[in-house]
Amino acid sequence: MIEPAAKPPWSLRRRLAQGLVLTALLPVLLFGAALLLSQWQRNREDLLLRLDANARLSASVIDDFLDAQLAGVRLLADRMSEDPAVRSEELARLLYVYPAMLRALQVDAHGDVVAVRDARGRTLLPIAGLVSDEDWFNAARSQYRPYVSDVYQRRAYGSEAVVGVSAPLVRGRRFEGALQAEIPVQGFVRLSAESLARRNLELLLLDRAGRVVYAGDRLRLALLEDAGAAGEAIRRTAVEPDRAGHATLREGLLRDGDKAYVQAVAMRNGWTLVLVAPHGQLLAPILSRMLLLAALVAATLLGVLWALWRQRQLLRKSMGYLLASLRGYALGGRLGPTQADTLPEELQPLAAGIGELGARMNAAFDELQQVLDERENVIAARTDSLRRAVAELDRLSRTDAMTGSLNYRGFVEAGERLWEEAAGSGKPLAVLALDIDHFKLYNDLYGHAEGDSALRRFAGAVRSALLHSDDVLARPGGEEFIVFLPATTHEQAMHVGRRVCQRVRDADIVHAGSLKGRLTVSVGVAALEPGDAEIEDILKRADAALYRAKAAGRDGISD
Ligand code: GH3
Ligand code: MG
Ligand code: MG
Repeated sequence: MIEPAAKPPWSLRRRLAQGLVLTALLPVLLFGAALLLSQWQRNREDLLLRLDANARLSASVIDDFLDAQLAGVRLLADRMSEDPAVRSEELARLLYVYPAMLRALQVDAHGDVVAVRDARGRTLLPIAGLVSDEDWFNAARSQYRPYVSDVYQRRAYGSEAVVGVSAPLVRGRRFEGALQAEIPVQGFVRLSAESLARRNLELLLLDRAGRVVYAGDRLRLALLEDAGAAGEAIRRTAVEPDRAGHATLREGLLRDGDKAYVQAVAMRNGWTLVLVAPHGQLLAPILSRMLLLAALVAATLLGVLWALWRQRQLLRKSMGYLLASLRGYALGGRLGPTQADTLPEELQPLAAGIGELGARMNAAFDELQQVLDERENVIAARTDSLRRAVAELDRLSRTDAMTGSLNYRGFVEAGERLWEEAAGSGKPLAVLALDIDHFKLYNDLYGHAEGDSALRRFAGAVRSALLHSDDVLARPGGEEFIVFLPATTHEQAMHVGRRVCQRVRDADIVHAGSLKGRLTVSVGVAALEPGDAEIEDILKRADAALYRAKAAGRDGISD
């Protein structure tokens, strides 16, 4: 069976990051988006209002201008002299008073041009039948009506695109002809168009036939071009100059292909004034706000990252303190009071818990240490008493229980030790070999128990004769004793031997079987001699001397 992968532990940092993103970044983004949307909407409202107001104002300005020009032509037509020579001068005066006019011409009732002047003061050549079938002339002839024409290019006197303003010449009730002034389109529209262009609005002027009177630089349409179906569609949306209208969003008008808001206004002369606002300009102010929003998001993000980094650092530092305290304890140290001041409020309970744990562990440790110390003391005391017991046993194993002197084993070891000391130091060493006289007889007379008692008293008497603390009395067996006399010469040993004999006598242990009536001892004396190779050499000589002391009658010493 496949075990499911262990779930990774949850991270405080990740949770905090999620929380910060939710509480800081998301609101900033939502708020920013709402702000941008409302800004965009406000921009759009502003643009549409501006578009509407400018369109109506521009239409009225151009209408007023053309009306003023028309008024001038009508005024002259009403007062025109009948003298042809004066009429030409009157045309020149008209051009002088209305500088926007390029050319002025008078036609007779048949449509033949009878007088032409241009703005430079020149008199041009009259042409017969030039205007007989033009709209303005027909309007003047049949309806006696002043007229503002559509845009046209009449190549007879110049190639400019012009608009004609005309009025009938009526004398009595008789139609005598008409007066017309030509105004170049560029002249009167340019100023308005440039002022609009500075406000990012493009001007389009369409005449009654749907031809372009003026088109701003950014528009696809050109002067005199038929605006076609698009123009027709726009003209249908035109509103009266004194009524607010709603702009429509259209494509294909601008050279750069951008969409545009289009506001059309119907002019008094039947033309249509169209204002075009590129859609892109709505985004421009938003763009700067978007940059601002991006900066705000970036700043917030940086703030969040900084907060996370700082929190991680503080956490790591605090954990470091706690870990150091615990580690210190693990390494055998004592848990001191945790550096509570350096820890944040959130970790204080943990620090308190660790402190409490530490205090308890310290108390337990102290208790344990105390128990261990007590145990150690007990063990030390027991070890000491055991050591003493072993030492006592050891001593006892070398001691003759009856007399308190060294037994055979003690005698051998002491002999070896004293021999080595003497050989090592070069100091003398002497040995006394003691044998109680007629002791078998004593046993026989008094019994074995009395014999033992006599042996004890004998040993005490000998010990009293040994005045140096390092003199050693041994009982290798039976009623025979050996005395080792370290740092003692032969002569001194003889002296000690005699004293031993005397003290035994002085003990006055009654021995009826002895000629002397008391217990006596025979002593053989031997001292270290050059050539001795081991302690045995001295012991043998002491034994031989003892033999001689026995042979000499006992109760005495020999060497
Ligand atoms: P000598 O003067 O030649 O030494 O005669 P002696 O009788 O002392 O000689 P021997 O060596 O024949 O006898 C020693 C006696 O000492 C034999 C034994 O009964 C006695 N004896 C040895 N050890 C002990 C002991 O531990 N207790 C008692 N009561 N007697 C002992
Ligand atoms: Mg003997
Ligand atoms: Mg004896």
